[in-house]
Amino acid sequence: RSPTASEDPAVQQPQQKKVHAQVADHYNARPDVGVEKRKESTIFRMKSFNNWLKSVLIGRYARPRDRVLDVGVGKGGDLLKWSKAKIQYFIGCDIASKSIEQARERYRTMRNAPFEAHFHAMDCYSEPISNVVAPDIVFDMVSMQFCLHYSFETETKARMMLHNVTSQLKPGGVFIGTIPDAYWIVKKLKSESDDKLQIGNSIYSIRFERRDRFDKFGSKYWFHLEDAIDDCPEYLVHFPTFQKLAEEYGLELIYNKKFHQVYEEASQELDFNQLLYRMNVVSENGSLSADEWEAANVYLAFAFRKKN
Ligand code: SAM
Repeated sequence: RSPTASEDPAVQQPQQKKVHAQVADHYNARPDVGVEKRKESTIFRMKSFNNWLKSVLIGRYARPRDRVLDVGVGKGGDLLKWSKAKIQYFIGCDIASKSIEQARERYRTMRNAPFEAHFHAMDCYSEPISNVVAPDIVFDMVSMQFCLHYSFETETKARMMLHNVTSQLKPGGVFIGTIPDAYWIVKKLKSESDDKLQIGNSIYSIRFERRDRFDKFGSKYWFHLEDAIDDCPEYLVHFPTFQKLAEEYGLELIYNKKFHQVYEEASQELDFNQLLYRMNVVSENGSLSADEWEAANVYLAFAFRKKN
């Protein structure tokens, strides 16, 4: 008897695919579009704002000649920011091998290769970084931008992520990142009528499978961000759990702000204010739409320092 569609392993396989493989496929499938094409995006201003915000974080914490580890480096979209921060050495890792190839290519075409850089395709939440990074390399900074939340699928993965962040970070070194703000997301969901499983607007949607229980790990939701993320599985990061776990790995929280707060503070500073214009967050033609502004505030930025 030939198998029916639901029994056919070839048919079942995509549904059974592990979440990390779905995430890697998702990012591998997204094309690396050039600057001009990027301007046509419906969320061009929001993407610019997110880039500005990462520049603020890097500007605040990176020091000239730093050695940097970027976990979840993606297509290397922050390479220019690191170059402006005058760092000396860079390692970028990501589970999406195509993104890693694109990051390598982006680095290769950077003018004057301002710092030494290496890129590795690896699952940073399931294997130790020492598989690809020589153990004698010590980092001054670790950065995880818009990617740490994927590790909150399980405590084991979150611990491996923290092991990788801290094992080669020098005492006094800084760990920066950006993640969706689980507290804000759940509060917003609970402000909706009892039967609603989704929040969002014309730019983004966050859809849960249940709303009666949110665990510390494995609290899955489906995230859609117009022109960026097509319904990808993600996990809530319960911040007090993250902070407590990070403390076990010798990290002390030194910064934790919603994106709107970061904007309110940093835009008062002349350099960062001018950067808003240079990075096209604001121009004479306008700025973020109200929906983009709400979507931007789904996120928070954090920094930890490794204790001596
Ligand atoms: N940090 C980059 C940026 O800010 O442009 C990319 C952010 S993108 C939204 C999230 C990245 O996390 C993707 O490149 C994805 O492949 C990566 N990622 C997800 N799970 C990962 C894992 N287990 N190990 C390494 N990278 C992972």
